[in-house]
Amino acid sequence: MLLEKEGCLVIRSAWDRPHSAREIIAAGAEAEALIVGNDTVSAEVIAALPRLKVISRYGVGYDNVDLAAATARGIPVTNTPGTNDESVADLVFGLLLALARQIPAVAALTRQGRWERLPGTQVYGKTLGIIGFGRIGRGVARRAAGFSMRVLVDDPYVDAVVAEGLGASPVTREELLAASDFVTLHVPFTKENVNLIGRAELALMKPAALLINTARGGLVDEKALAEALKNGRLAGAALDVLEHEPPQSRELLDLDNVLITAHIGGFTREATAAMSGLAARNVVEALSGREPEHTVNPQVFATHRWRQWVKSKEVR
Ligand code: NAD
Repeated sequence: MLLEKEGCLVIRSAWDRPHSAREIIAAGAEAEALIVGNDTVSAEVIAALPRLKVISRYGVGYDNVDLAAATARGIPVTNTPGTNDESVADLVFGLLLALARQIPAVAALTRQGRWERLPGTQVYGKTLGIIGFGRIGRGVARRAAGFSMRVLVDDPYVDAVVAEGLGASPVTREELLAASDFVTLHVPFTKENVNLIGRAELALMKPAALLINTARGGLVDEKALAEALKNGRLAGAALDVLEHEPPQSRELLDLDNVLITAHIGGFTREATAAMSGLAARNVVEALSGREPEHTVNPQVFATHRWRQWVKSKEVR
């Protein structure tokens, strides 16, 4: 709506799924702005869209955009922080409780007419390990206070005072993994964080522990996770994100102690409205020659191409 009001011609996709490079290039050949969800915006896509001035990511993580290629072309990449963090933090507790109390499995039994009970694990008063203490991690910590949980945090980039202010204790990753009943991941998917939870990390966790991942699939070594879940090294996992979405193998899907959802973390009415509004505002700012506040590659504003663009706007 905002985009049309600002005089933009908007080409909307008919599909609720990530688009291939060919589809983006075909639809965006003349585009000055791209608003993308989890679609891969590769260097090839960026090079094929000659008029592109901004890539607006609808969401927080921007690992699906080739940032180096965009920056080299003087194209700002924006995102929508602060719009879906509370929805994702809600989902973390939804998944945690569902897994700990086997809610989906018991509900499936009653639906079949079977009045059966499956044993659960209490959440209240337990130890929760949060890896990555940004917006979502902090939202999870605030919710954990209501469950009287002991909260451990691993985030070397966050001041201890911030964690302690939310009732959490900063610890090393090793300490967190060894002491937590539940471990939840909230770090961005960067080169540093590929397979952050692998065989060695899983081996440090309590066998009765549960792992929750609502951040990005590539943070967890899925082969090692499946192995740990099969051989009793880990009690369960709830995953809203996978290395390949939708999954290409049934290895994790077929395990009883795994709960998988289809990347629904930020998919609430409230979050999608806030994300769409901010993604559109980021586009309007950039197309007006102004620097959008939520630009993840601000160094782009010093490039010749961007300066030329701003100049062309001033002249009009
Ligand atoms: P954020 O930027 O506010 O916080 C990320 C935190 O991770 C930062 O505090 C950073 O210091 C920390 N961090 C980075 N590398 C680390 C490491 N190696 N060890 C420990 N801490 C590290 O981001 P956010 O809004 O909390 O979102 C986190 C991630 O969640 C996003 O990057 C995105 O990939 C994912 N996400 C998923 C959904 C979904 O639908 N499932 C929705 C929104 C976000």
